[in-house]
Amino acid sequence: MQKRYLLTPGPTPLPPEVVRSQAQPIIHHRTEEFEQIFAVVRQDLKYVFQTNQDVLILASSGTGAMEAAVTNLHSAEDDVLVISGGKFGQRWGQIASCYGLKPTVIEVEWGQAVDPAKVAQALAQNPQIKTVFCTYSETSTGALIDVKALAAITSKTDTLLVVDSITATGVVPLPMDEWGVDVVISGSQKAFMLPPGLGFITLSKRAWKRTETAKLPSFYFNLTKERKNQVTNQTAYTPAITLIIALKEALELIRKEGLDKVFTRHQRLANATIAGVKALGLELFAAACPSLAVTAVKAPANIDAGKIVKAMKKYGVTIAGGQDHLKGKIFRVSHLGYVDTFDVIIGISALEMALKEAGYAFEMGSGVKAAQEVLLAG
Ligand SMILES: *Cc1c(COP(=O)(O)O)cnc(C)c1O
Repeated sequence: MQKRYLLTPGPTPLPPEVVRSQAQPIIHHRTEEFEQIFAVVRQDLKYVFQTNQDVLILASSGTGAMEAAVTNLHSAEDDVLVISGGKFGQRWGQIASCYGLKPTVIEVEWGQAVDPAKVAQALAQNPQIKTVFCTYSETSTGALIDVKALAAITSKTDTLLVVDSITATGVVPLPMDEWGVDVVISGSQKAFMLPPGLGFITLSKRAWKRTETAKLPSFYFNLTKERKNQVTNQTAYTPAITLIIALKEALELIRKEGLDKVFTRHQRLANATIAGVKALGLELFAAACPSLAVTAVKAPANIDAGKIVKAMKKYGVTIAGGQDHLKGKIFRVSHLGYVDTFDVIIGISALEMALKEAGYAFEMGSGVKAAQEVLLAG
């Protein structure tokens, strides 16, 4: 027998309450029973998204909600600005191009955060830009950007700010109404502590206004149609009923803990993880702007990061490697969602064992000790 631990930035571990809620006979969605569940979920989603706007639930992974933002807000050949500092920033450019938009890309060095002044400059030079697409927590590099600063720029213009907050919602604050963010997107298999299969999207008043003139076609991801249904606690098509029942449980856990405490928990676990890897003599990949969802770490010079990931997997601990040109160079330890003190200890401890096996010279236990000290301090 081997016990397994999931320390990846999606999918994330499931709380027992969430697991249990899915082991039930299916109910029909065109019923009062479902509508009651949906009503509670809608309220709690507003709480987690820190907004008074409706948060729409889509039966898709997060990328479906990203695609919905592109199609529902634009017409062919619209100029848009994409901030790209990793795999998920690139995805915005790919979706925009796929639908015939004209993306200008601000290429940010992977592991860095975009300089908001560059965005202000791009918008001043190209006032025809309809939308800025960004990634709050770039999961591929472990970098967090300053969304508040970006919103301060876009909210003074007619340009909309669309935020992929897929590994930031439920991790770091994003009071979208207050900051003036126009679209926020997330997905179920991240801080929501659910299996994959739900996408979430919420739009500001002016983003809804934009949907009235957007000409790109959309059928399954037609947000206007979806909103019309969801405000009546129904969905346009068959919803992922089981996942929505599980979502009710997960949101209740978040509400009971309190969103502020959820944020401080992620901060504390990130701090402990960072202290642990630093004590092992390792460097962070996004040292200047670490995401609180996932810590990206540079592998020691002569050790392939993939080897570390593989060794940890052998012990039953799953972490993520690097993607594209970072493959073999970095590994990513997640502390996202249903995670607590000893998940960090397990992660750092397994990392030490993997490093030892790979021949890296360090003092065994030094990473765990550093993490424990942070965790003990509160
Ligand atoms: C997980 C993730 C996505 C969505 O990916 P899906 O596989 O479609 O769920 C998008 N952006 C970021 C930053 C992510 O972490």
